[in-house]
Parts: sequence; structure tokens; C-alpha cells
Amino acid sequence: KANRLFHPENSVISVRDRSIGGQKLAIIAGPCSVESEEQIISISEQIKESGAGFLRGGAFKPRTSPYSFQGLREGGLELLKRAREKTGLPIVTELMSADLIEKFVEDVDVIQIGARNMQNFDLLKEVGKTDKPILLKRGMSATIEELLMAAEYIMSEGNENVILCERGVRTFEQYTRNTLDLSAIPVIKKLSHLPVVVDPSHAAGLWWLVEPLAKAAIAVGADGLMIEVHNDPANAKCDGQQSITPERFKTLMNSLKQIANIE
Ligand code: PEP
Ligand code: MN
Repeated sequence: KANRLFHPENSVISVRDRSIGGQKLAIIAGPCSVESEEQIISISEQIKESGAGFLRGGAFKPRTSPYSFQGLREGGLELLKRAREKTGLPIVTELMSADLIEKFVEDVDVIQIGARNMQNFDLLKEVGKTDKPILLKRGMSATIEELLMAAEYIMSEGNENVILCERGVRTFEQYTRNTLDLSAIPVIKKLSHLPVVVDPSHAAGLWWLVEPLAKAAIAVGADGLMIEVHNDPANAKCDGQQSITPERFKTLMNSLKQIANIE
């Protein structure tokens, strides 16, 4: 179902009054994790002002260490909803367990399946039974074929609203957190009709690399970008080193507007 052979036109996924895929570039921005009401409201207002179309923020966080901040969980979802009420920005947030699927269907606009769950086939099948847009992130060691097959798990259950996300893969290089696989974007677009969003923040792991990688992603045909923005990166509970401030996000957006038509 993800194969372009049987569906030559690009898919455009509707999310509330917006869309991902098609002519315009979708910009999804926000903190790695929702930390407090003031934090998420202030970031969402600032990114909206700069032209972002969607708000991201983790409420349930898949952390490497069980002792790291795990997210505000249900409380985080409530804060995301408040930010949406204030700004109108649709919410993109990660679902880690099928137990919460009904709540996510009710509360969020795009369900994110993170890199670590890309091959959690039971979870993929469950989100496949909903009609929510799903942002499916590439596993850190997954091939393009495996990513497309993961999308197929969702689509085979009936949900064709899948957005793919390239977020960097593990290589021998240690300087960056991951290596952004730029060739994956044109390859996926050749093989599939699904939209592809690029996450330069998790690919780089370093805030100053976000801008050049974002521009490179546009050059190779990305349909959108997902960018981590934090009001106080030095004190962020998660991924501060790769987060840009709302001020830098504004400058970045101004330079992206020169090269892309933003949704
Ligand atoms: C995220 O987007 O917050 C995240 C955890 O990303 P990934 O699954 O790509 O590591
Ligand atoms: Mn993060």
C-alpha cells in the first residue's frame, strides 16, 4: 500500500485544517519533552509567531536510562491540549504503548511512533486500526526497506495516513549523534507515495547543525521538518544540546522562507 507503483500520486495527509505532503513544507517544532505549562505555552506561541504549522512535544519519553526524566505522561498531554487551545497548532506526540491508544486518538492530532518502536509490530497494527495520521520515525538501524515495511504494517490494517520521518541512522561516526541519511529522502520518494519529514535535531544531536541539515533536507525533497526548540536549552530535561532557542528558530524560519513555500 505504501508502494508508488500502485499509487503514482504523492499522498497528502490532512491534519485538522493543515496538511503534510503536497506543495508546501510542513514545519513541526517544539521541545523534546513537555516540562511545564509555562514552557509549552511560551514555546508554542513563539514558534507559531515564526510560522511553524505544528507543535511537537513528548509527554511519554523513551529514554535510554530508566533514571532519566520519563515525561509528564498524561499531564503532558493535558498541557499540549492547552497549548493547542491557545495557538491552534495541531499536536504531534509520541505513543509508546497500545494501552493509551484511545486517549491519544481523542487528544492528539498526529501520533508519533518513535525510532525505538519502529518495529514494534503489535503497536503498528494497533495504530493501523485508527484513522489518525501517524508519524513513523525510522529506526536508528533500520534500512529503508524495513521502514517501508513498518509503514505497511500500519496501512495493512486500514490506516493509510502515514508520514515517514528520517531522523538519522547509526554509523561509525561519533561526532554527530546519528548520521542524517540524506539519500533516504529521494529513495523513499521514488519507492513510495508517502510524505517524508526530516528531523535534523535528532540526526545531528548538535543545535548548530540543525540549520544546514534542514536546508539540505529541503534540497533533497523533504515534505517537512521536525525541529526541537527549547526556551532554555542548557537546562532542558531532555536533548538540550540539539535544541535551538525560539529566537534562533525565528532566524532559521526566515532563512527557510527564502528557499521553501511553508505550510
Ligand atoms: C523524539 O522525537 O522525541 C524522539 C524520541 O525521537 P526518535 O524516536 O527519533 O529518537
Ligand atoms: Mn528529543
